[in-house]
Amino acid sequence: VHSTTSPLRVTAPADQAALRRAHLGLVLRSVRDHGPRSRSRLAAELGLTRAAASSLVGELEELGLVRHGARERGAVGRPGTAVELVGSRVCGVGAEVNVDHVATLAVDLAGEVIAESRRGLDTRGLAQHEVLDELVTLLLGTLSEVEAAGVSPAGVTVGVAGLVDARSRTVSLAPNLGWRDVPVAELVEERLLAGGVAGLPVELDNEANLAAIAEIDPVDPCRADMVVLFGEVGVGGGVVADGRLLRGRHGWAGELGHMIVDPQGRPCGCGRVGCWETVIGLRALLEAATLPDDPVRDPSLTLEDRLGQLAERARRGDARTLDALHQVGGWLGTGAAALVNILDPAVVVLSGYFAVLGQWLRPAVEEQLGAGVVAPQAGGTRVVLSTLGPTAAVRGGALVSLESVFTDPTAAPRARVANGASR
Ligand SMILES: [Zn+2]
Repeated sequence: VHSTTSPLRVTAPADQAALRRAHLGLVLRSVRDHGPRSRSRLAAELGLTRAAASSLVGELEELGLVRHGARERGAVGRPGTAVELVGSRVCGVGAEVNVDHVATLAVDLAGEVIAESRRGLDTRGLAQHEVLDELVTLLLGTLSEVEAAGVSPAGVTVGVAGLVDARSRTVSLAPNLGWRDVPVAELVEERLLAGGVAGLPVELDNEANLAAIAEIDPVDPCRADMVVLFGEVGVGGGVVADGRLLRGRHGWAGELGHMIVDPQGRPCGCGRVGCWETVIGLRALLEAATLPDDPVRDPSLTLEDRLGQLAERARRGDARTLDALHQVGGWLGTGAAALVNILDPAVVVLSGYFAVLGQWLRPAVEEQLGAGVVAPQAGGTRVVLSTLGPTAAVRGGALVSLESVFTDPTAAPRARVANGASR
């Protein structure tokens, strides 16, 4: 028996416009995720009529987001031309403030990195406004670069290592930066305006959450349920459930580094005692792996240099380094086992410094998962190393900014005038 009111029957014009935008986004997403395909195939896969699919593709073509490419091969009957993504017209921009660096990265609609920059910075030795000045200087450079390449930015998402209230776009608390209640997005907007960039949407997010978003692969089912552990001086992460990042009520979910694992342990930067971060953060590793006068602790070294030296020692078989990695890997596995018991993920992704030193950390993590997870064979959860390197968070930020284009392709920024008159 058919219901007389179909849930898809939409009559109000405003609803119809919203439905149209949603369908445009659906087609655009499908072409990005599954590659070029004919209009009739798109129609069949998305449950649209051929006429509707043609009309949607036509509108996306006018917006400059798709084009007709080669004839589709292997199609039954009359082959149609494939609709393909025009990746290079629009980009999203990610920006990051971390304890020892600021960074930016632009990713186009097809997921290609088109500009990237990074600057080592001792953020704790600087005032907030100085750090944000440095970030926006970097950002303005990246924006000029993408515009020179003829790509229009859809927005900027700033990631900060701390608790972020996404709604008020404020960093509520960033213990490792020493920031409290800083309206970062607004301050970035003011500086962009002073630099001649107006009207670009600026969002704010937690950098480890962004690093987790960067790990989501819409066509890989294993990536729909995962725990991402992001290690730097601080430790954060993200829980992806059913393909979406778990955000919680305020957006504060994913503060995995402040899970208390050792109440009799060491004080944490957040003011509590025995947080997971105190035993797996980069400082804990450095303390276990080096003596106080070890050159690896030199604060002027970049994170990459430090990790490179530790990796080199591990490769040489240095006992102190290997012991420290085993100890940190054990703690990493102890916490990961608790998370696996609670969340039943398909994969645990080690990101940030955990990935760089992953070949030495992973065996201890797997050992602890085997011992600490109630389900047989650790529930089949695999431990994988992120391949995104130090750019995971900025890449995630760029992808978040691009989401607006997939949510509403009609709002994608228009091609800018080549002589720069849009500024
Ligand atoms: Zn803590």
